[in-house]
Amino acid sequence: MKICVLPGDGIGPEIVAEAVRVLKALDLGIEMEEALLGGCAVDATGDPYPAATQKLALAADAVLLGAVGGPQWDNNPREQRPERGLLGIRKQLGLFANLRPAILYPELANASTLKPEVVAGLDILIVRELTGDIYFGQPRGIEVRNGERFGFNTMHYTESEIRRILRVAFEAARKRRRKLCSVDKMNVLECTQLWRDIAIETANEYPDVELSHMLVDNAAMQLVKNPKQFDVMVTGNMFGDILSDEASMLTGSIGMLPSASLDASNKGLYEPSHGSAPDIAGKGVANPLATILSAAMMLRYTFANEAAARRIEDAVKKVLAQGFRTGDIYEPGMKKVGTREMGDAVLAAL
Ligand code: NAD
Repeated sequence: MKICVLPGDGIGPEIVAEAVRVLKALDLGIEMEEALLGGCAVDATGDPYPAATQKLALAADAVLLGAVGGPQWDNNPREQRPERGLLGIRKQLGLFANLRPAILYPELANASTLKPEVVAGLDILIVRELTGDIYFGQPRGIEVRNGERFGFNTMHYTESEIRRILRVAFEAARKRRRKLCSVDKMNVLECTQLWRDIAIETANEYPDVELSHMLVDNAAMQLVKNPKQFDVMVTGNMFGDILSDEASMLTGSIGMLPSASLDASNKGLYEPSHGSAPDIAGKGVANPLATILSAAMMLRYTFANEAAARRIEDAVKKVLAQGFRTGDIYEPGMKKVGTREMGDAVLAAL
């Protein structure tokens, strides 16, 4: 088991260090090697995704990433922007499946803007297709037609693209409560009618998973009305972009949310859902739990070690129950800790 560790920029190095400590404590014999990605890579080499990092990422079974970006690189030419590195690695590794859990631990129910009874104990997983759909479809552009400007994009999916993301979602549902909701807009868009047809066909391979369908507008409403009805949701790139952000905000605590992006062989890139938080970088106050939980996802999806993944997740639940809180999730009466102390608490709970 080989991991390429990319701390990145801002709070990245601080939070990744804690996830690495947790992985080492499990003593699973995982090899880890660090490399540069993002702004730090631009500063060192002029390239946000340098050749040495590419070599390491391609050779590894999984990549653990902190975050990239910061105001000091915002005015760089496009080729030397940190996000270029992120897009580059996602593309090179062929990561087509984005898995974003939205979990609200009962202890943090007050962090959500929704009523605690609606969200306490929420545990849903959004599976988003990441490399197709209207975001990449050709033709696209802005042209002048009939004397006025005309903007256009093309939504398309092949059967095989739909089937492979659905299989990822069905497999993920099997590891959870075995309920899958496929989200489309089949009443208006033919492309998503095909999506629904293939979802129904693929369900035959997974008789143990209960498949339902929902139109995307209704799904957006149901996510705020009664989000606990969902287990796994699967959808295309554009709908998934919107719904996964909506779902993550149900929890109100961005510092808690992990994510995974997988290729066809379950090689994956694992990173927190948040950014590099330049406003608190270097202060030792960032919440490392999203990154630690991303490491748990790595053990579950790339290394198929459910028991080790659960150990990490249970340790995180325990530290929350013990009252440890970083600033972003702090409430009066709790124990306010920094990044390193939160890591210490997780290690002790392990
Ligand atoms: P952000 O997620 O970095 O920060 C938003 C707010 O949440 C800030 O107030 C920050 O302090 C707080 N926050 C985020 N993570 C936290 C944590 N672990 N603990 C405590 N507080 C936390 O989003 P932003 O401010 O819009 O972006 C900052 C930089 O990050 C930008 O350069 C942006 O491009 C980059 N970014 C990178 C990624 C990525 O690497 N995948 C994703 C989003 C944004």
